[in-house]
Amino acid sequence: MPTYEYECRDCNKKFTVIQSISEHGKTKASCPKCKSAKVKQSISHFTTKTSRKS
Ligand SMILES: [Zn+2]
Repeated sequence: MPTYEYECRDCNKKFTVIQSISEHGKTKASCPKCKSAKVKQSISHFTTKTSRKS
């Protein structure tokens, strides 16, 4: 089961959701802290939080 990392645009809370791919396609994640649906997905596998291209 893949995990998806999200970051809330409202409170900047980062959270992880475990969903199947089909579930991920039809379910919208929301912030567990402030219940906002304004979340962005961050990809944990390839991007690192600190690296940047120079
Ligand atoms: Zn939030």
